[in-house]
Parts: sequence; structure tokens; C-alpha cells
Amino acid sequence: MAFEIQEQVDLTPYNSFGVSQVAAYFADIQDPADLSQAREFAASKRLSVLVLGQGSNTLFINDFPGLILYMNNRGRQILPGAGMLRAAAGENWHELVMFCLQNSLYGIENLALIPGTVGAAPIQNIGAYGVELDQFFVELEVFDLKTGEIRHMSKADCQFAYRDSIFKQDLGQKLVVLSVTLQLSLEPVLEIGYTGLKDALVGQEATPQSVFDAVCAIRSSKLPDPKQIGNAGSFFKNPVISRSKLVSLRELYPELPAWDTEDAELVKIPAAWLLDQKGWKGRQRGGAAVHEDHALVLVNRDNASGEDVVLLAQDMSSSVLQSFGIALQTEVRII
Ligand SMILES: Cc1cc2nc3c(=O)[nH]c(=O)nc-3n(C[C@H](O)[C@H](O)[C@H](O)COP(=O)(O)OP(=O)(O)OC[C@H]3O[C@@H](n4cnc5c(N)ncnc54)[C@H](O)[C@@H]3O)c2cc1C
Repeated sequence: MAFEIQEQVDLTPYNSFGVSQVAAYFADIQDPADLSQAREFAASKRLSVLVLGQGSNTLFINDFPGLILYMNNRGRQILPGAGMLRAAAGENWHELVMFCLQNSLYGIENLALIPGTVGAAPIQNIGAYGVELDQFFVELEVFDLKTGEIRHMSKADCQFAYRDSIFKQDLGQKLVVLSVTLQLSLEPVLEIGYTGLKDALVGQEATPQSVFDAVCAIRSSKLPDPKQIGNAGSFFKNPVISRSKLVSLRELYPELPAWDTEDAELVKIPAAWLLDQKGWKGRQRGGAAVHEDHALVLVNRDNASGEDVVLLAQDMSSSVLQSFGIALQTEVRII
């Protein structure tokens, strides 16, 4: 198909919150070779550029006056070398997880049903049920919007951390991920320590397939499907605080849960627990609401605008800051 830049494109189908904003220019990138032309077009009109996958971690609060690069390139390739696999940025993440399982490539079953594209997976180092992408990551290929060059980035270059990477920093926003290479295992590697997952597997043999099935079942029963009600999964990250802060908080809230991190001085605490204490479940502001069962999930209940969602999120984080002295950070990218 000839490369084309569309104008005044409604973004409703391109974000999982389902908010309706308009992009001034929009390019459906099926062939990475078209990125050079798209880059020249943006430069000639002095447009800002936004890379978009399936919009399941993105909230638009205004029309976007620049050019959207909608990454839709496809391809999956098992590479020579035991367990190596390369997938194009526009591939659907969950379909890749299924493809791996079908080809006896193991390790990412716990990341089943995470919405979105392969290209977006490294941006926030997706994770679920005790597994994170960086455990299997080898390298990725990027198109540099500043220089127009294609280059490779190693795991160290990507600076992965909890729901974070170099791509969330200023420089990273100029990079378009074209493909991701993973090293999977030819032998099952099971991570079933996570409480809900362990419980779901009681009475059955833990295999990559049963873990995959259990993860899909838990997610489908617990998390709202964006096709039914707009949302972007967890809106806030779990805060990381010092051990001394935890000790002082536990004087007031002895039940406050906490998990160890790689740094002995820091612990992670559940943002959902903090929000629960403030009674946020089910509350609504404008068309946006907090899910009845999940204080971390904001939903588009009644034709919400992006602004409705952000105002609700601001009220939520202010209440947590006031009561616990903890500033919540958003996981969702607000545009
Ligand atoms: C119901 C639900 C459940 C979820 N559960 C989880 C979960 O368990 N764990 C988790 O980690 N996340 C979860 N998420 C968040 C989301 O699925 C992930 O962040 C996913 O990786 C987003 O993919 P996407 O293609 O939709 O990204 P988008 O929303 O399109 O983009 C996200 C960010 O990545 C950038 N980006 C996208 N593609 C590229 C590219 N090719 N090159 C450079 N930058 C790019 C965008 O500019 C943006 O900053 C959930 C979301 C929903 C709706």
C-alpha cells in the first residue's frame, strides 16, 4: 500500500480509554522504510511527533496538533540460536506470547493478555505476576527521529527499571522501536510465586500452558476489558519508599503491605491499598470513574473526556499525598 499521511483523524479507536480527540496528521506505518518520509514531512511542517501502538497506556487530554506514527509493521521470526526470537513493533503482544507457547519457547506466559504492541512493551518494561520483560530482553532496533538512522540498543542501553526505561525520558521520545529481540527458554521456566497465581494452580500440574491459562483466566475475571469499558489498566505505579518511611507509616497503619526491592533500603507498596484506605473505589467525577473492584483502574464510565480522567486522578493522588505523604506517579502516558 502506498504510504499516505491522513489529516484530522479521530483517535477514539486508537486509545483504550476511548476518548475522542483528533490528530492533525496520522501515518499508519506498515513499512519502517516510510519513517524517513514521515520524518521529513514532520520537519517541513515543524510538527511534533508521537509514536503510538494500540494506545492502551496512553490518555489524550487534548487534540494532538502534530503527526502520529501508528506502528503497524508486522513479522515474527525465530532466529538461529536456541530460543531467540525477533518480533516487529506492530505485532500484538498477547499473540506473540501465544506464538511462543505454540513453538515451545518459554518464559513469558505470565505476561499473557497484557494489551498492546511488541514495540511498546520495552517502553515501560511491561510486567505482571512476578515477571518483567527485561528478564528476556536481548536488544531492539530503533529509528532515530533526530538523525534518521536505524540502530540497535542493548539491554544496558535501555536502562530498564520498574515500569520504566530510557524511552520514558526526553531522549527516548525521539526513538521509534522497530523490532524487539528476546531470548526465551527451550525448557519450561515457571514463575508461580505470585499469590493469586499460586492459588489458581492448586490441584493441577504447573506447566507453561497451565500458567498461561491461569493468567488469562485471572486477568479476564478481574480486569475490565477495554472493549467493554474504556480504561488503561493500572493508572498509577506502585510507590517505592524508604524502609524508614515504611516504619513510620506502619505506626499509624500497621496493616500496610510492602514488598522488598533489589535495593535493601527501599520497599514497594501497593498504590491500590493506599487508594482503598481513602475510599476511592467506585467514585466518579464527570464521565470518569474508579472501577468498583480496583482502586487503581480508572474507567471511562460515561463518555468521559481525557480531562475528566486526569482531574479524577489528580484528586486521588492529592488525597494520598495528604494522608500518607506519598506522591503517586502515573503509569499511563498523558498527552
Ligand atoms: C486492561 C489493561 C491491563 C493492563 N495490564 C498491564 C500489566 O499487567 N502490566 C503492564 O506492564 N502494563 C499493563 N497495561 C498497560 C499496557 O498494556 C502496556 O503499557 C502496553 O505495553 C501498551 O502497549 P500499546 O501498544 O497499547 O502502547 P501505547 O499506549 O500505544 O504507547 C505507550 C507508550 O509507548 C510509546 N510507544 C508505543 N509504541 C512505540 C514504538 N514502537 N516505539 C517507541 N515508542 C512507542 C508511546 O509513545 C507511549 O509513550 C494494561 C493496560 C490495560 C488497558
